[in-house]
Amino acid sequence: MTVHQRTRTDDPHYIRLHESDNVAIVVNSFGLPPGTQFSDGLVLKEFVPQGHKVALTDLADGAPIRRYGEVIGYAIGDIPQGSWVEESKVRMPSPPALDSLELGTRVPAPLPPLEGYTFEGYRNPDGSVGTKNILAISTSVQCVAGTLDFAVRRIKEELLPKYPNVDDVVPLTHACGCGVAINAPQAVIPIRTLQSLARHPNFGGEVMIVGLGCEKLQPERLLPDDKQGVVRLQDDSFHGFGDMIEAIMEMAEARLKVLHARKRETVPASELVIGLQCGGSDAFSGVTANPALGFAADLLVRAGATVMFSEVTEVRDAIHLLTPRAVNEDVARALVREMAWYDDYLAQGQADRSANPSPGNKKGGLANVVEKALGSVAKSGSSAISGVLAPGERVKERGLIFAATPASDFVCGTLQLASGMTLQVFTTGRGTPYGLSAAPVIKVATRTELAERWRDLIDVNAGRIATGDATIEEVGWEIFHPNPIRLSA
Ligand code: CA
Repeated sequence: MTVHQRTRTDDPHYIRLHESDNVAIVVNSFGLPPGTQFSDGLVLKEFVPQGHKVALTDLADGAPIRRYGEVIGYAIGDIPQGSWVEESKVRMPSPPALDSLELGTRVPAPLPPLEGYTFEGYRNPDGSVGTKNILAISTSVQCVAGTLDFAVRRIKEELLPKYPNVDDVVPLTHACGCGVAINAPQAVIPIRTLQSLARHPNFGGEVMIVGLGCEKLQPERLLPDDKQGVVRLQDDSFHGFGDMIEAIMEMAEARLKVLHARKRETVPASELVIGLQCGGSDAFSGVTANPALGFAADLLVRAGATVMFSEVTEVRDAIHLLTPRAVNEDVARALVREMAWYDDYLAQGQADRSANPSPGNKKGGLANVVEKALGSVAKSGSSAISGVLAPGERVKERGLIFAATPASDFVCGTLQLASGMTLQVFTTGRGTPYGLSAAPVIKVATRTELAERWRDLIDVNAGRIATGDATIEEVGWEIFHPNPIRLSA
């Protein structure tokens, strides 16, 4: 990576990521005007906004445009050196063909183990370790959501203060459970997600279910093993709304008592299950925050933790960089399976990959999904990929795992929680006030402007990488030592 470092804050500078790149992105806040000269002599022919691409050489009509050392598109018309390479001048390439990928051909050697890192967690009887102590109340059907929300407000006001060791009460409400063919093959994902969520390490094995009674998805299917713990609103013994609320509160209090007795203990960092995600991405995501997160992911894998990356939508166009890293052919084929599912899904919806990126992503400098994908997969670091999860499946292996989810932030977050994620790291460039109620989220800004404007939302400022004030490695270590789950040696 070549960072044309400034000597003063307002000196013009750009970032070129790979020696074969013929475009670079402008780093200066608010962009740079025509006539601007960089320290290497390059002169801007026109205004280039911050995060957008400038042509480093003359690009003839149809010439490949290279960023990250990969082709992100082809020039539409001649693009002279020093011009703004904006979205309308870039023709999107075809996605990598799924039938000619290298499968497990270049498996990275394991990096030296990082020993002795620990955190304070809640150990569960099933061997999992939580980062929070939460009473979760799940639901078998959408019809009970309003009643449960009312009950949860009262539980929080009247019961939770009596059990200070419990962090929160979280209702798991959703739009499923009835009205569709509940056992149809395509319905497997929401049901599996609810089943997996009920076993989440932060819920301590004490999830209870609120059901209606007549729904297709019977509540027992969501409970772990033979646990008792269902309140059915149609129960014959209930005379009206007051009885229902009382029954929910009574069961909730019994579980709060058990959860209150949980104690944090020092456990090895290898017990952490970390999810990686980006949202509201810009052209800096793949330059600052995501590579720093990739470095942190490698550190976490070295410490023996489980690290999940996701977002099929943004992995599809970089899949040729990932299948060679799979530990074996089976894992590589599982990656291909998830990409093929996405291709079929787009075909069924008569959509194509240009549905992504979003208008805001484009405003931030991302021309197309290829450029977005190359920046997105930087989160995965450089370790071997040791497993693949279908959406909502619970994680079994340690190391770097691909958990198939959409890129949509809260859907991805929910599915990573279902897979057992106990801590998420979320990178953002455009900015999103994202959070999850069931696990802590460390938020990393790609740009200093955002980190300063959203001081109370951003935990780590990776924008310092673009301005030459910190290295990818330094910010990676900062992410590895996060609040509130501070890893200590
Ligand atoms: Ca996302």
